[in-house]
Amino acid sequence: MFRNFKLVPNILFGRGCFAQLDEIVAGRRKSGGDWAVFVVDDVFKGKDLEKRVPLHDNDFLLWVNVADEPKTDYVDKLTLEAKHFNPALPCAIIGIGGGSAMDLAKSVSLMLTNEGSSTQYQGWDLIKNPAVWHAAVPTLSGTGAEVSRTAVLTGPEKKLGLNSDYTVFDQVVLDPELTAGVPKDQHFYTGMDCYIHCIESLQGTYINEFSKAYGEKSLDLCRQVFVDNHPDSADKLMMASFFGGMSIAYSQVGACHALSYGLSYVLGTHHGVGCCITFDTLDEYYPDGVKEFRTIMEKTGVDIPRGLAKDLTEDQMETMIRVALNLDPLWENCLGKDWKSIMTRDKARSLFEKI
Ligand code: NAD
Ligand code: ZN
Repeated sequence: MFRNFKLVPNILFGRGCFAQLDEIVAGRRKSGGDWAVFVVDDVFKGKDLEKRVPLHDNDFLLWVNVADEPKTDYVDKLTLEAKHFNPALPCAIIGIGGGSAMDLAKSVSLMLTNEGSSTQYQGWDLIKNPAVWHAAVPTLSGTGAEVSRTAVLTGPEKKLGLNSDYTVFDQVVLDPELTAGVPKDQHFYTGMDCYIHCIESLQGTYINEFSKAYGEKSLDLCRQVFVDNHPDSADKLMMASFFGGMSIAYSQVGACHALSYGLSYVLGTHHGVGCCITFDTLDEYYPDGVKEFRTIMEKTGVDIPRGLAKDLTEDQMETMIRVALNLDPLWENCLGKDWKSIMTRDKARSLFEKI
């Protein structure tokens, strides 16, 4: 079966295009009572961007904190806050921030129209009803969350996304100026998330011309940003993120992401840095990519946390292995159909022992 891939229908790109957000949301406001929710990363509290959020009288500014990556109970709480603010459905939800804020916006837009807790929908195509119209304004480039059909959530039992066609944003506003304040280490970690998406997609067994076309261009842009220090890096990384997301949407990520899910489930390690930590153990599978990653890391002067394995309890190690090995498609993409005979529990343990 070929996947019938749902795309973001409307995209705005360019420095300063954030100023057009008001006009775009205006198109959703059909009657006087219509209201919008702006889901905004609280890193922008008191910053210039706060003043630029095009909030109207009836609208709700929902600050979100992303110190922890999105959890199902947090999504349920935010959804309830929106319902308490106004029991009628909003006409638009706009997520402003990095992958975490964008995933929270996607999740709230889905949970306002689907009953119960978000834990019930962690999986593939479990969402029953279309979401509230939702838009993304990325302020940090790399995850590809602006284009993907998932909202990654950690629940009581698993870290798994709300994967569905309804999850895909209806509008994306790509304004590279908004990434100006990203700290250097975060820029590297989330940028490398994008780089790793490309390596895992391009070297996977699921590769096809669609994913290759986007993955190669994204990798080229990542190199212009991180190897050549191109002056238009913000624009380039924003497009690399988008294209990297397009590439994996029609292929898959691989070993690094599988291991990083185990790591972040147990230690709460954030996605970008977690991927950097696990990618650094994978010379055997992605030799050229890991070599180039290390060169970039050295050039950038950012390091990754090391020596994590020595403080792990046996229980934690077991959980990491279990969570990582549960991600069948990622391993199959990396190692082929016979992956279980290659990536045994012992092999996975030996990789986690290197972190
Ligand atoms: P993030 O959204 O967690 O943000 C990282 C840090 O950067 C936060 O402290 C945030 O406040 C800060 N930040 C964001 N924009 C900033 C700006 N312009 N200036 C200053 N600080 C800024 O980081 P991320 O790497 O973009 O996203 C990671 C999340 O995305 C994880 O939860 C991960 O699971 C998820 N993810 C989702 C997908 C998807 O397809 N849905 C794909 C990959 C990762
Ligand atoms: Zn990733």
